[in-house]
Amino acid sequence: VSNFKEFWDEKAETAPQRDLDALEQKMLKHAIEYASRESQFYHSRIKEAGISPAEVTDRHSLKMVPMTVKDELRISQERAPPFGDYLATSFSQINRVHRTSGTTGRPLFLALTRRDIETMNECGARAFWSAGLRPGMSIVHCMNYCLWTGGYSDHSNLEKTGAAVVPFGVGQSKLLVRTIQLLKVKAISATTSYLGLLENVVREELGVEPRELGLEWAFLGGEMGLSIPSFRKAIEEKWGLRAMDANYGLADVLSILASECSTRDGMHFHGQGKVLCELIEGESGEVIPLEEGAQGEFVLTNLEKEAQPLIRFRSGDIVRVLSTGGCECGRTGFKFKVIGRTQDVLKVKGINIYVSALQEIISAFVPSLSGEFQIVLESPPPISHLRVAVESGSLDSSSATKSMEELRRVAKERLGIEIDFELVARNALPRTEGKTARIVRRY
Ligand SMILES: [Zn+2]
Repeated sequence: VSNFKEFWDEKAETAPQRDLDALEQKMLKHAIEYASRESQFYHSRIKEAGISPAEVTDRHSLKMVPMTVKDELRISQERAPPFGDYLATSFSQINRVHRTSGTTGRPLFLALTRRDIETMNECGARAFWSAGLRPGMSIVHCMNYCLWTGGYSDHSNLEKTGAAVVPFGVGQSKLLVRTIQLLKVKAISATTSYLGLLENVVREELGVEPRELGLEWAFLGGEMGLSIPSFRKAIEEKWGLRAMDANYGLADVLSILASECSTRDGMHFHGQGKVLCELIEGESGEVIPLEEGAQGEFVLTNLEKEAQPLIRFRSGDIVRVLSTGGCECGRTGFKFKVIGRTQDVLKVKGINIYVSALQEIISAFVPSLSGEFQIVLESPPPISHLRVAVESGSLDSSSATKSMEELRRVAKERLGIEIDFELVARNALPRTEGKTARIVRRY
């Protein structure tokens, strides 16, 4: 029996949907008035749409406000550097600054007020608590602290739970292993791909089996890998720990919005009272009901952000809603799974190919293949031919060659197109400390 409470914020996390709807409605009205009064960007946007802020009172009327896309934020920051004209506070209220990783274009500067940090920490603590982090656990935080939200801000989110957080960052693996051993650290926070990188270093350079480190938990995020059961199982077996999908969010909106609970069948939304979620059909932009089985792109609206409030921000993340009726853990936040990124869908000969679907197929061949891969595009769309480099795994080369034949067959069967898979040496593909870019465009 645990001595700790079950929820970080029981009221928000277990509230009936109708109570949340009422709260959201009240906050939305205020958020729209605030953004249109204090930010030049939203003042113009709402005016140009021919509506008055007072008309936007609920989800239905929110549809009148045009969506915001990331490129508009980039342009806004070029026009009004450094924080853009969507900034709704004075410079003196800004308390923390981050920069986005820029994996999808020019990086953005993110500004947070004291209250924005507190809002983020609240949702961050809900998420890590839901995934199992508690006071009394020591956790080493292995994300890049340089500029990126995942570093210092996620450190503060972990700390909010009361756990003992060891700020480590990335690199210096020898010191990391020593630190884990000396402090008897039980948990690690990292991106999924960084854990993969660490596995090689620990085993090959330091001659230590990952299991020998004694880690019991991994709180992972930043990537989709863990929703693939075989991939999660491989991590858990190698490290002898419980790997949790604990950290889903969008730095622009809110650093952490969702995580798993102990049932591990999808991530709970944890942004109650902070972020309003809509789902749209990708191509038409039509709003679709957020109900069980629905699939679409997340469109997010900040309900109480001060510095850089976003209204109807297109996340680019395509999700499937798994359930809305509450969970056996007691949380009422809907559960979902990230299917892919809008920019990670490639149309090949008219067929939509998700990078995540490809990842799922390739990861079934671990350990004959390493599971790492890279899609190389030589010319701009339309794409008629897909070339994918996949890495040899830890077994002998004949096992990798045999897997390649099977991989070609399975991919054709599951995706409906012939893919040109090319086998490359183990560790030949770049590993990154942040999110791994699976698509390389050579044009
Ligand atoms: Zn749950």
